Amino acid sequence: MAEIRSLDELQTPDSTTLVFTPHGLGSKMPAEKSAEYLQLLIAGCVLDPDVAQNTRREFARLQRLFAYGVLEYDIFTVVDDRALLVMEQALRERFVQWCAGTITFEDANGSEPAAVEDVHTYDDVLAAVKRLSRRRRRASPRWQLKVGSTLIDFNGMFAGLRTWAREAGLLRGQRTRGIEHALTHLRNAVAHPVGYQRTTPVATARTLHDLAEFINQLWGCPTPGGRLYPAPVERDIVVMAWNDEGNIHMAQADALRDDTGAEGFVYLLIRSVFRPEGGLQDAHWAAFDTRFETTQFPTDYLWGPGSRSDALAWLKEQQPTGDTVDYIDRVFLLREHDGQLYPPMRPDVAAGLLPEEQSGTWHSVRADFPEHAFAHVRELNSTPRTHARTGDCICPAHHLSSGTHEEVMRTAEAVVGTMTPRRPPAVQTPDTFLWPHRF
Ligand SMILES: [Zn+2]
Repeated sequence: MAEIRSLDELQTPDSTTLVFTPHGLGSKMPAEKSAEYLQLLIAGCVLDPDVAQNTRREFARLQRLFAYGVLEYDIFTVVDDRALLVMEQALRERFVQWCAGTITFEDANGSEPAAVEDVHTYDDVLAAVKRLSRRRRRASPRWQLKVGSTLIDFNGMFAGLRTWAREAGLLRGQRTRGIEHALTHLRNAVAHPVGYQRTTPVATARTLHDLAEFINQLWGCPTPGGRLYPAPVERDIVVMAWNDEGNIHMAQADALRDDTGAEGFVYLLIRSVFRPEGGLQDAHWAAFDTRFETTQFPTDYLWGPGSRSDALAWLKEQQPTGDTVDYIDRVFLLREHDGQLYPPMRPDVAAGLLPEEQSGTWHSVRADFPEHAFAHVRELNSTPRTHARTGDCICPAHHLSSGTHEEVMRTAEAVVGTMTPRRPPAVQTPDTFLWPHRF
């Protein structure tokens, strides 16, 4: 017979938990402090009010249980495993909402009319999938789920739900696509465990943060500063200044009003992500170029280069303001010419190129950051069998097309919509070691 523990024993703090402190592994914390610390670890996990009720309940349960890890260390492992199943449950609940009563399957072979099924619960969805698969003989009909104007394979399981959420535009971002893929495997490992393992409170807290981001994104709410589904970032009016000695500075445009007496500087006004005090700053700001996407976040050229007094006059006259910008799933165009691959460009800037600048092979790539688009195309040439020439790649990029400038412009336009060609003045900072080749 198993050992029966008293309530007192059940309420005894687990010493394994107590060594996890805000400063890493340390000497045991008092249980009081440990309980507080655990709850603070996940205090930032908040679901959007739009999230459906069952998913909210499941998430609240995990949050509640997490704190009990102070009494039983193994709770962290159980919560961590369960989080992956809640992720699937959230997908199911969101799927039923998305269906709004009916689900449509079409025969990819085109031999049968579309099948429209009534669905009100996820069991209805699974039943519909089963019914249709019974109507299938050999390869025909080949039933696929209709998502917008696209047909996808869908058997109701986790991977199919994830494909649906991506196709429906509910999940986004190229970097996170790879993470979701890894989660699919993790979810299967949870459903069919092979060994005994233990998860730390820190790792489990991160899982809960990721899960909150995932759920919020499914219901259309990206996370400010998020790791997986970040919300648009704020941009400010920013001044860059550099001189011939290789000094380069960046500051909020207001700083222009203070005359530092510095001589020999030229000034450039841009709209850029620059909140160093808030921990958010473009990692590659000093590589700014008006024609190429050489910075981490989208940066807009406003004025310059010129003198400090002219910059101030322009600011006073124009009164430009900051904005917010979405940097996930951007479309970049890259030119390859004479054995040289050039930095990514925005579609509207590539559209404004002169005919002699358009020669060579072009690629259009969807990525969150320009360096990902660049690395993908470079690898496409050096390890062609590893990287995808069409669609989702194994790297954080989605290949849209390759061809002439005109061909690639056409695919880009199909994705981003009609654009007005732009030809900003060619201005770049002297710091170009990151992207040495331009045209
Ligand atoms: Zn790739």
